[in-house]
Amino acid sequence: MTKPIHIIGGGMAGSEAAWQIATAGLPVILHEMRPNVETFAHQTQDFAELVCSNSFRSDDHEANAVGLLHWEMRAANSLIMEMGDEHALPAGSALAVDRDAFSAGVSKRILAHENITIERGEISEIPSDDWGQTIIATGPLTSQSLANSILENTDQASLAFFDAIAPIIHADSIDMSKAWMQSRYDKGDTEEERTAYLNCPMDEQQYNDFIDALLAAEKTEFKDWEKDTPYFDGCLPIEVMAERGRETLRWGPMKPVGLTNPHQPGIKAHAVVQLRRDNALGTLFNIVGFQTKMKYGEQTRVLRTIPGLEEAEFARLGGIHRNTFINSPLLLDDQMRLKSRPNIRFAGQITGVEGYVESAAMGLLAGRLAVAQAQGRDIETPRNTTAMGALITHITGGADAKTFQPMNVNFGLFPPVENIKGGRRNRKERYKAYTDRAKADWSDWLQQGA
Ligand SMILES: Cc1cc2nc3c(=O)[nH]c(=O)nc-3n(C[C@H](O)[C@H](O)[C@H](O)COP(=O)(O)OP(=O)(O)OC[C@H]3O[C@@H](n4cnc5c(N)ncnc54)[C@H](O)[C@@H]3O)c2cc1C
Repeated sequence: MTKPIHIIGGGMAGSEAAWQIATAGLPVILHEMRPNVETFAHQTQDFAELVCSNSFRSDDHEANAVGLLHWEMRAANSLIMEMGDEHALPAGSALAVDRDAFSAGVSKRILAHENITIERGEISEIPSDDWGQTIIATGPLTSQSLANSILENTDQASLAFFDAIAPIIHADSIDMSKAWMQSRYDKGDTEEERTAYLNCPMDEQQYNDFIDALLAAEKTEFKDWEKDTPYFDGCLPIEVMAERGRETLRWGPMKPVGLTNPHQPGIKAHAVVQLRRDNALGTLFNIVGFQTKMKYGEQTRVLRTIPGLEEAEFARLGGIHRNTFINSPLLLDDQMRLKSRPNIRFAGQITGVEGYVESAAMGLLAGRLAVAQAQGRDIETPRNTTAMGALITHITGGADAKTFQPMNVNFGLFPPVENIKGGRRNRKERYKAYTDRAKADWSDWLQQGA
């Protein structure tokens, strides 16, 4: 008899992984701790419960990266997308779902599938190899004992309990007639290292206006349950630094030292905002040390006052939340397996993707890779020209392990399409080229027996 594949966690990722494996004809044991052990956010014992909003975001598969991910998942027989479509609510170009009917629909299918066995109860440590293949999909609210076991099996620096996300910007939306590439004191052994940073200068007036805007901007509050998990001083939001004193940022992330502006070599900047390459492709830059709890609309407004960022397009905005995730670029191979324990795969938000759809997508991929492994087939992960492949490539290698923070899908993770112009004006044409290429490559991957 074929050995079952174990999945820990019946959320967005675990449910999708279970479905993919079961429909491929293999047995699955799905372990879910609810209702025996609760999280502060889940309210039911249903599978794939949506803990907050009811939106799967844009459904536009021609011009939006998450819409493209929907498309790829639908093409791969995704249960999450099928139930999302079945229980969709009117929401313009977005896909919003009736949350109770959606989770009930997923649960009904999972419970009815003859290849899926449900075991209710917390799994408190990483299972031994006797279990065979296991997928850990316990999400941002992984139980404490399992989190401790993950820590023991990896190391202290490889598991985070908070994300501290600095805004990330598409490189081609930065005005290089004002910004310039240079690392502080020209540090770095290679040309690539010496130009890994991008700098935006401010004069005294611009700095003071920026601090005023920062202090006045509307912020989101920590939820009660987040207040118990303190974040480190090294992750202080910029507005908190500004509240500590008007000069604090100038002595911190905005210090102007070790840099010369080639556009105005004779003028010393009063402050400098630095951005660092965020992916190997060089298409994304994060604003160094700029984690923030400003509301999203306020972030774009305030950050676009920075010289060079007036037209900035944000791949993702900043935030600080309670979130359990592993350092995937360090720990996982490109098949989503622990490098040190190839029987253990991770999937969902715990891998450092963010959002319902991205988490379910990583469940889909983990499920299919587990099936291939069980059948002794060697399959490559999808190309990074697809939404699925762009995400997996980012978290298992494209992102820098030293600064790894959760990511949602966006076109900055895709390699550029040749002969298509950058810039804001050509965006529509460029995104269509990305999605056409992705659809062809994803269909190929599925056809090759993935
Ligand atoms: C408060 C909050 C609000 C959020 N709001 C949004 C939002 O509005 N939109 C959005 O896109 N994303 C949101 N997210 C992120 C969201 O959680 C993820 O996008 C998504 O649910 C992650 O899917 P997942 O399968 O990885 O984890 P989950 O869906 O959380 O599933 C993990 C499952 O594992 C179970 N589990 C945990 N530990 C164990 C264990 N030791 N043994 C057995 N079972 C275990 C849990 O009970 C849970 O059912 C939010 C997250 C939180 C915490």
